[in-house]
Amino acid sequence: MQPTTSNRIRSVVIVGGGTAGWMTAAALGRVLGRDYADIRLIESDAIGTVGVGEATIPQINIFNRMLGIAEDDFVRRTKGSFKLGIEFVDWGALGTRYFHPFGHYGIDMEGVSFHSFWMRMAKSGAFADVEDFSLMARAARGGKFMRPIDAGNSPLSGIAYAFHFDAGLYAAYLREYAEAKGVSRTEGRINAVERDGESGNISHLLLESGERVDGELFIDCSGFGGLVIGKTLGVPYRDWSRWLPCDRAVAVPCERLADLPPYTRSTARTAGWQWRIPLQHRIGNGHVYASDYISDDEAAAQLLGSLDGEPLADPRFLKFTTGHRARFWERNCVSIGLSAGFLEPLESTSIWMIQTGIARLLSNFPDRRFAAAERDRYNRQMIEESEFIRDFLILHYHATRRGDSDFWNYCRTMAIPERLAEKLRIWRSTGRAFREHEELFNDTSWFAVMLGQGVEVERYDPLADILSYDELTARMEHIRQAMANSADYMPSHDRYIAENCAA
Ligand code: FAD
Repeated sequence: MQPTTSNRIRSVVIVGGGTAGWMTAAALGRVLGRDYADIRLIESDAIGTVGVGEATIPQINIFNRMLGIAEDDFVRRTKGSFKLGIEFVDWGALGTRYFHPFGHYGIDMEGVSFHSFWMRMAKSGAFADVEDFSLMARAARGGKFMRPIDAGNSPLSGIAYAFHFDAGLYAAYLREYAEAKGVSRTEGRINAVERDGESGNISHLLLESGERVDGELFIDCSGFGGLVIGKTLGVPYRDWSRWLPCDRAVAVPCERLADLPPYTRSTARTAGWQWRIPLQHRIGNGHVYASDYISDDEAAAQLLGSLDGEPLADPRFLKFTTGHRARFWERNCVSIGLSAGFLEPLESTSIWMIQTGIARLLSNFPDRRFAAAERDRYNRQMIEESEFIRDFLILHYHATRRGDSDFWNYCRTMAIPERLAEKLRIWRSTGRAFREHEELFNDTSWFAVMLGQGVEVERYDPLADILSYDELTARMEHIRQAMANSADYMPSHDRYIAENCAA
């Protein structure tokens, strides 16, 4: 007889059917399949979902590949568009802008980072526009898009992209996928979550209909309420609002733009910032703000006063606290999505947190003994992941010269976490930006935002002197030309969508 694990999990209950619930259902359906365990998702149409969360980062391509979904079909069905990065307006100072691109700038040479060479050149007054060296930034500026092609050393081989999509359509798309993989769905409100008197583990849910839903592993995807992890298991929430003081958002869709920009825009306002996410059928807009510094009415007025088209619905208000659960996984419950924590959407990282939560759950997948070692490792990894992202977000608020409101004065002068303070010290002394351990954002991202926010650099990296000035000038010009030629070659974003994945 073949050996099997006798304590294998046989039933998984997913609590909630927003983006987190359906991403989890799709992934578990794909990996575990029909025969390993019974997978059931409970959601309430009456409660609904948060309904925002429409911009992603390139890592979502890994998730899509894991599911094996056809990308054009996915973009068409979610009325999506492509994203090459984020344009930040008025962040470092009023009247400034920069682009945080996906992918890389230029190319490292002689083992020294391109950033170091660029900094040396910029200090001498040459090649001042760093966006000339990012294909993604150049293409975004020109409204261009295509997927990477096999073109040898050409920058066209390295196009990095993510998506914008309609959150409701994304959940519906994943639902269809998950159900085809054997996940069953129950519509209905959960009235109570019950625990086993002896073990303290979650034993079952009681639905409004009177139905009882038993399970061995519970995935809490119930949104901000944290029905299982918070309300039932009492895992406390760590509040990070002293560093990230925005605690509300107001969202409104408007008519689409004539030309579809292949990027997200984030415009800093007096007490927060405004997003613009272009989709095929509408633009998603929202104002993320700090309620200590601006009223709801004023925040909504700022938003409605700066839309690119006619609003298509009434503004919708959301409240949140930036932070995370002290433990993402407690007993036989793993929290994924907003129930586990929320880092505000400035760099579109929440869907990534769902994705990495699922991936880490699969690589630490428990059996019915729920060993503490796996749970502890998961919790450590998820907290570390959140802290790295937190620091990157704080950078945007803190590294500013804005002093035109109490909000910006607070952010500019607040005490920041030591790891971020160290990154700033190193940047200021030599212009070096780096990725720490396995953190999500790499040196390109740190470089783009440090530079874009206008953080001063005293001296350039001494290793950038490894090439003579003339040699470096020639190479830089060559790279710049290659980027320009590649961007010229690309079709417009609109044309690319029309030819491949129009809704
Ligand atoms: P929800 O969407 O709230 O889903 C919760 C589910 O649980 C629902 O199905 C609900 O019906 C169900 N439920 C709850 N209680 C019960 C009950 N008692 N009985 C039955 N069912 C129940 N992320 C990004 O990656 N990019 C972005 O650009 C981005 N922008 C954002 C902007 C804002 C303003 C906010 C607030 C978030 C943003 N996010 C973004 C985060 C993103 O929206 C979420 O990570 C994502 O939508 C996942 O939400 P969720 O599934 O955890 O929760």
